[in-house]
Amino acid sequence: MFSLNKHSITPFTTSIGRVSRLVRDFVAPTPGISSIAAANPSKSFGGHWQPFTDHRKANVDPKVFARANGMYYYTEDNHELLDGTSGLWCVNAGHNQPKIVDAVRKQVGELDYASSFNTSHRKPTEFAHRLCELLPGRNFKEVFFANCGSTAVDTALKIALQYHRSLGQPQRTMLIGRDRAYHGVGFGGISVGGMTPIRKMFSGQLLPRVDHIPHTHSLPHMAFSKGLPEWGAHLADDLERLCTLHDPSNIAAVIIEPVSGSTGVLPPPVGYLSKIRDICSKHGILLIFDEVITGFGRVGDAFATNKFDVTPDMITCAKGLTNATVPAGAVLCQSHLFDTIHRGSHVDDEIAIELYHGYTYSGHPLAMAAGLATLDVYKEQRLFERSNELSPYFEEAIHSIKGLPNVIDIRNCGTMGAIELSQVPGAPLKRNMDIFDRCWKKGVLIRASGSLAFSPPLIMEKKDIDRIFNVVGEAIIESSKTI
Ligand code: PLP
Repeated sequence: MFSLNKHSITPFTTSIGRVSRLVRDFVAPTPGISSIAAANPSKSFGGHWQPFTDHRKANVDPKVFARANGMYYYTEDNHELLDGTSGLWCVNAGHNQPKIVDAVRKQVGELDYASSFNTSHRKPTEFAHRLCELLPGRNFKEVFFANCGSTAVDTALKIALQYHRSLGQPQRTMLIGRDRAYHGVGFGGISVGGMTPIRKMFSGQLLPRVDHIPHTHSLPHMAFSKGLPEWGAHLADDLERLCTLHDPSNIAAVIIEPVSGSTGVLPPPVGYLSKIRDICSKHGILLIFDEVITGFGRVGDAFATNKFDVTPDMITCAKGLTNATVPAGAVLCQSHLFDTIHRGSHVDDEIAIELYHGYTYSGHPLAMAAGLATLDVYKEQRLFERSNELSPYFEEAIHSIKGLPNVIDIRNCGTMGAIELSQVPGAPLKRNMDIFDRCWKKGVLIRASGSLAFSPPLIMEKKDIDRIFNVVGEAIIESSKTI
């Protein structure tokens, strides 16, 4: 854990030149990516148009992973990085997990691909059963496989619409999301999401008939809360307001991340999720939990659904579903969803398509093989329990950062957490990216966007947690002397 007097601070003078170089490069006019590649062919990623990336910065100091193992990444020049973020909230069982790698190798030599449109292979069924078993007593019976989190979310929204149509309520098309939510990058996900910069970019063509309830974060009421904040359950009542405003008979579904992840780890206030559930049930509105991040152990159980004991109608998941070894997403559905759409599709004996939705890669053999092996590893290594057992230690460690310069909030739930720093006016990412760079140099990979976020692989040990937050503490102090 971080302690001001116990740890020496690495001299920061050598970094100043680089930081000012970065700043200079931030304000310089943007060269085209190909001119970057031409100017510096050995270092750039020219040709690779990266997601959510500032290519100028990426080119100044390219960060190139070459291999990974367990808790660690290694760059091309063999710089070792302790992974504080499970890649991108996804490698929950650690990198290059041998059992998962072997399962994928075996599968690719056996059955490379099989379409799930009217045909299938055995593994999706087996995987679907195993996934539903992770939610005992909650009536999850059917799983629709997608390609990633974004496609899982769009799938769930479509299932909601078709479900109500099958029930004879085609007017129920309105979708309710939340401010500060992230549900991926499909038009459905952006529409119900609440990340304003993304919405702004595509605002001309988002889905119509969408509304949002407020997010639950409030610095004055809950700064430095440990775990679930006590304040804020009443914010769920805003859903009643929207029901009155739009009439519930028009609302198809509410989608919520049980703990908002990408917008800075916002744990739900105590009692908030069950209030949302009650309001949805009262009005016949489907509730979708987007567990793309919270699924597979991150909050100390298989799903946040179990941890918080609130059961949605659908759960979207991805990331830890296959330990990210093969891209995949899934929508876990309660039996009434499948049954209703199935029944509603067959009016006579003619062959009828039931759900009007699917992906070439739904139930892909490599993803299914990776997923089954991943579930084995989670079980054999007790990784969900391990996450739960480590949560109090993780909590103490992340909160030991309180009091360092510019730190205005710290949040945690299970083994995910975020540190929020005051922003430099006009440069919201500057401080966090500087801290990210410093941590990288010191050999720790963190996630930096609007806040600093942490979600190490669940195979982590206490010494890994110590190292992550010691390094982050040092980096915050050093950074405060320059920014
Ligand atoms: N939903 C949530 C809650 C997420 O956190 C993410 C990604 O971080 C997504 C959906 C989108 O997942 P993907 O990037 O796999 O499309």
